[in-house]
Amino acid sequence: LSPWWLNVDLAWIYAETTTDDVWFLVFVCTLALHIFPRQVGSAWALSLFLVSFLATGTRLAELTITEADWKLTGVILENYGFGLMMLCFMFVLARYREHGQRLRLEYQILERVAYLDALTGLPNRRRMYELTQHNLEVAEQSQTRFCIALLDLDFFKRINDTFGHLRGDEVLIQVAEILRAELGERYPLGRWGGEEFLVLFPSSSLKEAHAVLERVRQTLEHTAELEGERITVSGGVAAWRVQDTSSALIGRADVALYRAKNTGRNQILSEVQELFERV
Ligand code: GH3
Ligand code: MG
Ligand code: MG
Repeated sequence: LSPWWLNVDLAWIYAETTTDDVWFLVFVCTLALHIFPRQVGSAWALSLFLVSFLATGTRLAELTITEADWKLTGVILENYGFGLMMLCFMFVLARYREHGQRLRLEYQILERVAYLDALTGLPNRRRMYELTQHNLEVAEQSQTRFCIALLDLDFFKRINDTFGHLRGDEVLIQVAEILRAELGERYPLGRWGGEEFLVLFPSSSLKEAHAVLERVRQTLEHTAELEGERITVSGGVAAWRVQDTSSALIGRADVALYRAKNTGRNQILSEVQELFERV
């Protein structure tokens, strides 16, 4: 048996080492819970804790043999308690993190359901109305230009009647993809209704919006088809005026569209032309 002074010294050294072990354990467990998914991280943390528990327990046994002071046992047990508490805390933290991730995912799904059109994946009518409203406010505040356009496929009923509703749906998806690619990020596009699309032209003049749509119309005329049948589109464009409301602006685009339909289809008319023709 060691002399009493050696025992005290040993006790102090072991207590120090065990404290270091616990801190190291806490560090590794936290790392494990952050790096791995919850189950894997928890398994890692638990294994590490058990291994460390056994290792320190062995040392504790050695110390008991060397007749270490009972206070040392107390210190080591305290360290275990602390480690266990930290582990519980980390479990709660991991659960909390997982809960947060699930909430974020649910929010994304809700947003998708509320704002995206299920068939084409484009923003839906609700989203487009909000975007129109937002752009209207921006135009009002900064006195910039803003145009909108309504597009409607020509003789779409005929497509449905000839090829069936499902093939009609395919055409809608095809047209949405072409429009999306042609308009890019700069001009927000959405599905306004059945086979109608709404396009926003922030900071654009009527002339610019008309030119962009004319190019889109031509692309569609040459690329969109179903079993050899060409798909064409008619459109009406309107420009924001001071104190305009979303409904008034969209209404004017609709009037121009109506005119485009009645004067031959497969064309884009802007409200200026509409006014000129009326005069
Ligand atoms: P117009 O050139 O005057 O626009 O002729 P149109 O035949 O396209 O007439 P209208 O715009 O009034 O017809 C819209 C048709 O679009 C009617 C409806 O059956 C069809 N439609 C609306 N929504 C969908 C849809 O989600 N899928 C399919 N396949 N057809 C749809
Ligand atoms: Mg139509
Ligand atoms: Mg229509």
